[in-house]
Amino acid sequence: MTPLEEGSRALVVDDSRATRRILGRMLAEIGFAVTEAENGKEALATLTADEQPFDLALVDWNMPEVDGIELVKAIRADAAFDGLKVLMVTTEADIDHMMIALDAGADEYAMKPFTAAVIREKLALLGIGEPV
Ligand SMILES: [Mg+2]
Repeated sequence: MTPLEEGSRALVVDDSRATRRILGRMLAEIGFAVTEAENGKEALATLTADEQPFDLALVDWNMPEVDGIELVKAIRADAAFDGLKVLMVTTEADIDHMMIALDAGADEYAMKPFTAAVIREKLALLGIGEPV
């Protein structure tokens, strides 16, 4: 397990401000510099505008403007984001949704309601943070 590199950046994309705060705090505790976006459209704008690349995106499914699946597809269609790991975090708990997300290019999938332990476990599967 590689330790988190200094300056690692995470983008938390969710239309719930409370969820953004909770996930953001978890990621900050791990050592990420955290940026928030409230939908896929804002996330894409942030990802493309910033010169310093993001390492990780936590992406909600149901959001206005551009939803999580559209966002993941857009990310995977752009080679500039090849190094970006994507964890879907969503209330869509059935296997069909999970398969759609993974097919779209999400690296891992976590269901709401989540716990800090679950998020850490999923990140560990992505090679991020301490093993759990
Ligand atoms: Mg939502």
